[in-house]
Amino acid sequence: MATDEQEFHHVPPLQMELDEPSIMSSLARLQEMHISLRNLRETIPKVMDSVLVDPASPDQLHSHFSQAANGAAQAIKNFTLLVEDSRTKEVMDKAKESRARAGEGITGWKVTEHEDWLNFKQEDGNDDVDKDEEGTAEAGDGPSAENVNTTLDKLRSAHVGIEVSLDEDSRTVTLHLPPPAQMNFQIQLDTTSGGHNSYSVDSKDKSKLHRAVLEEIGARPRPNHLAYLLEMLASYIDIKSRPCVKCSRLLDRNARFPVVRSRKRTKQPDGRFESQWLALHTACT
Ligand SMILES: [Zn+2]
Repeated sequence: MATDEQEFHHVPPLQMELDEPSIMSSLARLQEMHISLRNLRETIPKVMDSVLVDPASPDQLHSHFSQAANGAAQAIKNFTLLVEDSRTKEVMDKAKESRARAGEGITGWKVTEHEDWLNFKQEDGNDDVDKDEEGTAEAGDGPSAENVNTTLDKLRSAHVGIEVSLDEDSRTVTLHLPPPAQMNFQIQLDTTSGGHNSYSVDSKDKSKLHRAVLEEIGARPRPNHLAYLLEMLASYIDIKSRPCVKCSRLLDRNARFPVVRSRKRTKQPDGRFESQWLALHTACT
């Protein structure tokens, strides 16, 4: 029978040093899982709602139900991907190892008791500059089609389901977020008089939600970076299911979705940055 001491020695050493960036990055992943799990709680009620509302026609009933079922499938898929992801396994293994080493005093806690467990303030003002995102302002004709297409390819590979294309003649990028978000944006590629790339965003859809999102997009802190803009737009893919990180609700008291996006960036042990977009209601900022 193994003594406590022997068991202690069986615990493998931590593979990565527990430095602050690595802990923050692990916390960010846990929060992502927490949000994703919360979304699942609303999955069945949402599918039920879609058939309980009086439809105008059988077609509309079918359309409502299909959208809700697709949204549910997507939410389950997102959570499964997160759980099975190697980074999640790494985080959980690290926590288990740490607990095995010094588990005394570790008890369960409710996230509601520590709502500020992850400081979600934007970190764009810090000195660490992501080389990928530094971006140089191109003088003259604005971003080249080649550069834009490379950026679009990166977005496509990072976000399955998002359709994005460049029309070289009109110098317009069109981005489509699939249902249940069902949002469309057009980005006009241009150059400011100072020679910086400029990207103005509009939508043919004039719904309240689109207008609220466009307002947030217009106030983004990095107006001259296409990759930043595309990532921000892509973060609205779960606008209709991702609750506010502050109040944990999907809709605020005026029945508005959390349209504010705050980017949390964490430096990985290998020096790369991992971005996470947190959703907030305007009133919760
Ligand atoms: Zn809120």
